[in-house]
Amino acid sequence: MFKKVLIANRGEIACRIIRACRELGVKTVAIHSEADKENMHVKLADQSICVGPASSSESYLNIPSIIAAAEISGADAIHPGYGFLAENTYFAEVCEACGIKFIGPKKESIERMGDKIAAIELMKKAGVPVVPGSGGPVNADDPKVAALAKKIGYPVIIKATAGGGGKGMRIVVSEETLKNSIIMAQEEAKRAFGNPDVYMEKYVEEPHHIEFQILGDAYGKTCYLPERDCSIQRRHQKLVEESPSPFVDDVLRKKMGKAAKNAAAAVNYITVGTVEFLVDKKKNFYFMEMNTRIQVEHPVTEMITGIDLVKEQIKLAAGEKLSFDSEKIKILGHAIECRINAEDPDKDFIPSPGTIGRLYLPGGPGIRLDSHVYSGYTIPPFYDSLIAKIIAQGADREEAIMRMQRALKEVEIEGIKNTSTLHYKIMANEKFRKGGVSTDFLPKYIFGR
Ligand code: ADP
Repeated sequence: MFKKVLIANRGEIACRIIRACRELGVKTVAIHSEADKENMHVKLADQSICVGPASSSESYLNIPSIIAAAEISGADAIHPGYGFLAENTYFAEVCEACGIKFIGPKKESIERMGDKIAAIELMKKAGVPVVPGSGGPVNADDPKVAALAKKIGYPVIIKATAGGGGKGMRIVVSEETLKNSIIMAQEEAKRAFGNPDVYMEKYVEEPHHIEFQILGDAYGKTCYLPERDCSIQRRHQKLVEESPSPFVDDVLRKKMGKAAKNAAAAVNYITVGTVEFLVDKKKNFYFMEMNTRIQVEHPVTEMITGIDLVKEQIKLAAGEKLSFDSEKIKILGHAIECRINAEDPDKDFIPSPGTIGRLYLPGGPGIRLDSHVYSGYTIPPFYDSLIAKIIAQGADREEAIMRMQRALKEVEIEGIKNTSTLHYKIMANEKFRKGGVSTDFLPKYIFGR
């Protein structure tokens, strides 16, 4: 096992990783920007080092500073969390070259899954179903692009090759807006990822976002855990996640789980990752992408399996063997996660940074809270707007929903706008309570667009 882990991240996920390390008896080093001196992860860690000014590019993405911090503090491993450097092949490579273990998959696996087009090609070869699409980058001035869209069949979706966080995506319903949409998606992709490449695929109508947690050890064993349903999204970004999915039955779970396991095996996957699928009305499923890191929504899987995924991730990176099999996993009731973001849901989710006044976050039976905020804390405007994750577990879905509603009613966050009242509306919605909603639920049934 590692002696000291440096956490190359901030906020709730840094706190989550520090907690896992502490339970494993491993020392922790927090890094932070100048704007994050008062962040909870800095207070929780055994040691902390400032790695640069507020802007992410100069701090949480500053590879030389982070590696120097690891060397100075004597950390033998780095956990990247999610976002920032979690899926950065170069960073994984530098860690390796400096003799510091990168807690994540091998750099080759990150590389092969990081480019979405290459990942889709690889999955096709591994026999995993994929959405029909261009199979390569598309350009607005290509004379064949309109014919290709027609062949795939409208509506189509333009997506960024280097995509993430729902950025660089455009749904196109007819040829009139095709070229413009490609140009706009390219511009957005360039701004967000420094890479303007986009591709085109069939837009699956009223799809369900279903993903599988996968784990792999260094000895060739892979395993999948029961699915997460992440169909409640705003602007293609997840807002509510639950497990198991009310839309997935035992037969589909096994079929998709096996496909996810094949996807992981195809890239010799080590540690934890997620294989994301879209499922259509007829329950056909298609590989969308693989995330080679721990995900925001991992707690719902932890709650219904009793497995601590972050501890497993660290143990697998340290060379331990995977100790369980997919077939033996029992689903323990139902779990739902609501992402509380510092955003104004009534103003198109515009970020709402600022100082938190009075704060009360819920607890009680079946409620888990992953957060880094406290009364008097100032949310800086530079980073992600996620401030807390409320996870409710119940014996069944009904109990989990009732529990989540009860917890949301207890939330008090003074001084900033946040998404808790929107979550209450979602939990109270009849269609949601019935279960099995698709990704158009939020715009259609909550915002009535
Ligand atoms: P990102 O990496 O930016 O999160 P994903 O490929 O994971 O992008 O897609 C995010 C969301 O966008 C999906 O959950 C889904 O709601 C929507 N989406 C992506 N591709 C398609 C598609 N082909 N058809 C319908 N919806 C899609």
